[in-house]
Amino acid sequence: MKTAIAITALALGMVGAMPASAQRGPGLPPPEPIQHITGNVYKIFGGGGNTLVVVQKDGVVLVDTKMPGNGQAILDGVKSVTDKPIVTIINTHSHPDHVGSTDFIREKYPNVKVIASEATKDEVAKNPMYKPGVIPNVTFHDHMTLGQGEDRIELYSFGQAHTGGDTFVYFPASHVLFMGDVMAWNMAPFLPSGGASLLPTAEEKLIATVKGVKFVVEGHGYVDTWKDLVRITHFNRDLVTFAKAAYDRGDAPSVAVDQLKKNPDYAPLLDTRIKDGLPYGNTPFARANMNVNVAYLEFAGEPVGFGVANGAPLPATAKHKGSNPADTAPPKPDTPVVPRPPVPSGK
Ligand SMILES: [Zn+2]
Ligand SMILES: [Zn+2]
Repeated sequence: MKTAIAITALALGMVGAMPASAQRGPGLPPPEPIQHITGNVYKIFGGGGNTLVVVQKDGVVLVDTKMPGNGQAILDGVKSVTDKPIVTIINTHSHPDHVGSTDFIREKYPNVKVIASEATKDEVAKNPMYKPGVIPNVTFHDHMTLGQGEDRIELYSFGQAHTGGDTFVYFPASHVLFMGDVMAWNMAPFLPSGGASLLPTAEEKLIATVKGVKFVVEGHGYVDTWKDLVRITHFNRDLVTFAKAAYDRGDAPSVAVDQLKKNPDYAPLLDTRIKDGLPYGNTPFARANMNVNVAYLEFAGEPVGFGVANGAPLPATAKHKGSNPADTAPPKPDTPVVPRPPVPSGK
């Protein structure tokens, strides 16, 4: 079935972004033991996106629930740090590696609040792959506050970014901001639904709004710092600015990436090594090139399509120059690995 194939590709693609011919290899790493970040905040890596676990006075708040089939692993991880029930699930966006085990957890905790943006609810509700238990029962448009005092949570959505309405989740008492896939592996994000030019706008609104952030938890991968978030926001803005200028001059997409390379601060975001934990995915360099390709299609008024966002080189048309296949190619098996960074100290 075409839809099922596309969804499988999407599930792999959101984290891995490989052409169909390369969808083999190690696949998603399984969930790892729960990891402490700070205070009452933990993270479970693997099995899809990161799951954030926040132990509050009245129960546990989860942010994102991995691929289907990981619900028990999430509950086992929670059980190793608290006996409190799951009271709230926040889903940052509609992709299956973030909402996949929501229905399983809901069956165990029928009173759980499942919260997402209105845009995410629409995307989940119209996707035939999802069971009814995945559909959120609480939504918000652009901002919502939950709880108070130590248990206060601020939810924000600033429109199209990695999907049509990604949610950013901020826990002011612990200074933890969860990014969803707008920030994953500390590199340019995967953009399967386009929006290269809207992405930095959403990020700029976010960094102008949230105050006091010390821990930036990625949708996949690691825990970054506020400085990392500010840097990638500037990078994504420059990427689209340089892409527009290169497109208008009639240059190839690689010219915009060459311009990004001139800023030494951007070197980690253009790394040609693979990130530890992402053996199935792209290098930062390939992802930057892919996002310039996405931007070129937007400037040309052409649909983005999954292929280009997923690493297929941009073909040359009457409207724009194509990209070099080597610039977006998946890493070779012997590609060196960037080690995982430690959790920041929060200082
Ligand atoms: Zn994801
Ligand atoms: Zn995603």
